[in-house]
Amino acid sequence: MADAAEPHRSGGAAGANIVLLGPPGAGKGTQAVVLASRLGVPAISTGDMLREAVAQGNPLGRKVQGIMASGALVDDGTMAEVVRERLRHDDARHGFLLDGYPRTLPQAETLSGVLTSAAKKLDAVLLVEVPVDELVRRSLLRGRADDAEDVVRERQRVYREKTEPLIGYYERLGLLRRIDGNRAIDEVTGQMLAALGASA
Ligand code: AMP
Repeated sequence: MADAAEPHRSGGAAGANIVLLGPPGAGKGTQAVVLASRLGVPAISTGDMLREAVAQGNPLGRKVQGIMASGALVDDGTMAEVVRERLRHDDARHGFLLDGYPRTLPQAETLSGVLTSAAKKLDAVLLVEVPVDELVRRSLLRGRADDAEDVVRERQRVYREKTEPLIGYYERLGLLRRIDGNRAIDEVTGQMLAALGASA
């Protein structure tokens, strides 16, 4: 079973420009790290990048701190700069796993433009699906600074309003792969590898 799903680390194989999509608490961050190392591409988490900026207290961090704490989204223009710059790094040359971007339709258009101008394209969008009660439970367990219950609920609301439309968008492009995220971590990874193998 592993054979077809096991991509090769070297050689910059096609099929390694991937987006992880799914609600807050679905386990995207965990899967991104595991899957990226299996694929030999960097896991790029915009949430981690912003948290790092906040920790450093740099201009980006000062701009986004309050927004993140409230559960709202950082504006698309700021995020475009962050992602455009990050995808330019050498480690993303042969692929990347984006976790937490895009989160709005304009962001999806930005990503498409960035990739097109670099003669690249997206290969797959993995949608991690988890029932909503389980999402809230997981987020509260995690205990991050922006994980107070009202903020958790706000993040879910923002996801439904701003990010869910991306499901149809990527479905129409034929890129969407649905993953059952309500399973053990390694089973979820297995589904993802199989989905990528099938699409390669
Ligand atoms: P995450 O770790 O992906 O849940 O992101 C944490 C927070 O960072 C989000 O609640 C947003 O405030 C902000 N953020 C991360 N990625 C994005 C994005 N693509 N667009 C807007 N805001 C983002």
